[in-house]
Amino acid sequence: MSKTPSVADDAVVLLCADIYGHLDEMEFVAGGSTDPLLAGAVRSAVLVLRGLVAEHGTLRDATCWACGGEWPCRVFSTVHGLIKNPDGEYVALLRRLRAAERRE
Ligand SMILES: [Zn+2]
Repeated sequence: MSKTPSVADDAVVLLCADIYGHLDEMEFVAGGSTDPLLAGAVRSAVLVLRGLVAEHGTLRDATCWACGGEWPCRVFSTVHGLIKNPDGEYVALLRRLRAAERRE
């Protein structure tokens, strides 16, 4: 019989899904850009962020796979802060890409 996931287990899954969702959206929107240099730069940045999130993930024991410490670790928290900061460059770039997409 399988164990019912805890609230913390579900929170980990939701947090990771949220971050991956933002990265997917960034990649998708950049793919529609008419500026190939910008699109390539965004795809490269998303690839790096996706790799960091995957490497610094966790499962049920809330221990970071890469750091071995308590999860969310410093690297994961930094990536999360970069992606979710409403005044940060990531959000600003996403807004510009969305605006350009609407004009096309
Ligand atoms: Zn870590």
